[in-house]
Amino acid sequence: MRTQVAIIGGGPAGTLLSHVLRRAGIASVVLERQSRDYVLGRIRAGVLEWGSVEFLRANEVGDRMDAEGHVHDGTRIAWAGRDSFYIDIKKHVGSQFMAYGQTEIQKDLYDAGDRIGTEIVFDASDVEIHDITTGTPHVTYSANGDTARVDCDYVAACDGYHGVGRPTIPHDVLRTYEKVYPFGWLGILSETPPLPDLVYCNHPRGFALASMRNPMLSRYYVQCSLDDTVDEWPDERFWEELLIRLPEDTRDEVVTGPSIEKSIAPLRSFVAEPMRYGSLFLAGDAAHIVPPTGAKGLNLAISDVYYLSRALIHHYERADDRYLDNYSDMALRRVWSAVRFSWWLTLLLHRFPDQTEFDQRAQEAELEYLRSSHFAQASMCEQYAGLPFET
Ligand SMILES: Cc1cc2nc3c(=O)[nH]c(=O)nc-3n(C[C@H](O)[C@H](O)[C@H](O)COP(=O)(O)OP(=O)(O)OC[C@H]3O[C@@H](n4cnc5c(N)ncnc54)[C@H](O)[C@@H]3O)c2cc1C
Repeated sequence: MRTQVAIIGGGPAGTLLSHVLRRAGIASVVLERQSRDYVLGRIRAGVLEWGSVEFLRANEVGDRMDAEGHVHDGTRIAWAGRDSFYIDIKKHVGSQFMAYGQTEIQKDLYDAGDRIGTEIVFDASDVEIHDITTGTPHVTYSANGDTARVDCDYVAACDGYHGVGRPTIPHDVLRTYEKVYPFGWLGILSETPPLPDLVYCNHPRGFALASMRNPMLSRYYVQCSLDDTVDEWPDERFWEELLIRLPEDTRDEVVTGPSIEKSIAPLRSFVAEPMRYGSLFLAGDAAHIVPPTGAKGLNLAISDVYYLSRALIHHYERADDRYLDNYSDMALRRVWSAVRFSWWLTLLLHRFPDQTEFDQRAQEAELEYLRSSHFAQASMCEQYAGLPFET
């Protein structure tokens, strides 16, 4: 098989990239290790920056998002059991954000791919990248008991943190930066009406977040120990803990019900540099992971695709490699900005096991500053809403 861009990974980054390229007349093949149903069953992110919303709309995969997603002007923060305060993103920076589940975006991308004929090979195992610095790279994989080969011009590794793309870059070229946080997030989905706003909460018993996926699907999280297991958290215990941590002014509004999904996710920050090696480009979680506190993981995957698709389109349509050559630097500027913001928000809102009384008072002073300062709120809003894409 011959194509222009071989894409490894059929998550949001890989399928969005193939979709945008296909619309520009550039051929690609996506190799996805899992089945379509498996990918669609994964419950993950759900908050879209406005730049992501506009990029999806511009590529005609935003109709259902516009019909079913929930537009928000701002978000609430509470700490130490006090009432929450509202951070008005629209007022401070003129932007909004959209609550719309990653699972739904994934479905929209697969459906759009069916319509416009993007090529996705599901259940592709043993994917390997070859000759990435030769100018004639190729990828091999196994499916249905056969081994196949895809010759291509470029390889886009959109294969997540555990993929094969990043390890292809030699150790003496790749630099990685990592911070592991000493707690996890226990998350549940329940078919109950969510609170009207996202509520972030710093409580003496730990962080909590009230979020949503659609008008009848709530997503709630509580900070938990990394040693905890889902079995130790029956629904009753989860709801009880959530309600203790939420501020009084929102507690009464929470509608509880049986969970339809429950999982524990560890929190980490991770960046790999560079995001290009020879003809290989990394995009999304393959290159970086952020703790979900800042709601940036999916948005960074989308902004990487924005930069990479523009670079490839300029290469094929105009023989202009300026953006390809700058891809790693440009993407990483945005990545580090989001990594810093997610790290800052994680420090601000969580209780750390080794937190001293000094740390505690400093954290509370910063929360008070955020509550009372127009400037502090504007800075947070600018980053929460998402920085603009570089031209
Ligand atoms: C449990 C969990 C919860 C999350 N919650 C949030 C959240 O609340 N908010 C937030 O902003 N972000 C969240 N994230 C992060 C967000 O979901 C990711 O940033 C986003 O999925 C990145 O998209 P991606 O396409 O880069 O990677 P992925 O979604 O990981 O997609 C990579 C794809 O590559 C495939 N793949 C991997 N290896 C191979 C291989 N060798 N060959 C072929 N295919 C391969 C995988 O099966 C997968 O489909 C969460 C992530 C996880 C794991």
